[in-house]
Amino acid sequence: MLGNLSRRLRWLGYDAEYRNDLPDEEMMRIAREESRLLVTRDRALAGRRGVHALFIAATDLDAQVQAVVAALGPSHGSTRCTVCNGELEPLSPEQAAPLVPPYVARTQTDFVRCRRCLRVYWPGTHWSGLQVWGERADARHVDDQREETSPG
Ligand SMILES: [Zn+2]
Repeated sequence: MLGNLSRRLRWLGYDAEYRNDLPDEEMMRIAREESRLLVTRDRALAGRRGVHALFIAATDLDAQVQAVVAALGPSHGSTRCTVCNGELEPLSPEQAAPLVPPYVARTQTDFVRCRRCLRVYWPGTHWSGLQVWGERADARHVDDQREETSPG
């Protein structure tokens, strides 16, 4: 399971898709077509021909991150949505106010929103050692509204 690694990499600005529901052949095809590095804990998969892959032996998250950074070089991207890997766009306090808890709307001024899943983020303190942002777990209703107003 490399889900934690993918979330950390997104924070660091890497375009990190995470799939654990696909057969090996499909993962290899996606990695080839999208020019991705296939990061896996499956040594046999990493050794297959025809794909640029990195076998992760470490179980420690920091060591896993270091292995990927060593393979890809430092990230030049901005932080991406840790949940879905979407790009984040700035959100004004006025735009964010109806989407976040009232306390957050009163006390925070810096917001970003995921273009893909519409989650809203703001500065927080959940992860020590990283610049971290809070996340509203129930931002789900925003997706529902959009589906109703734009049917296709
Ligand atoms: Zn997202």
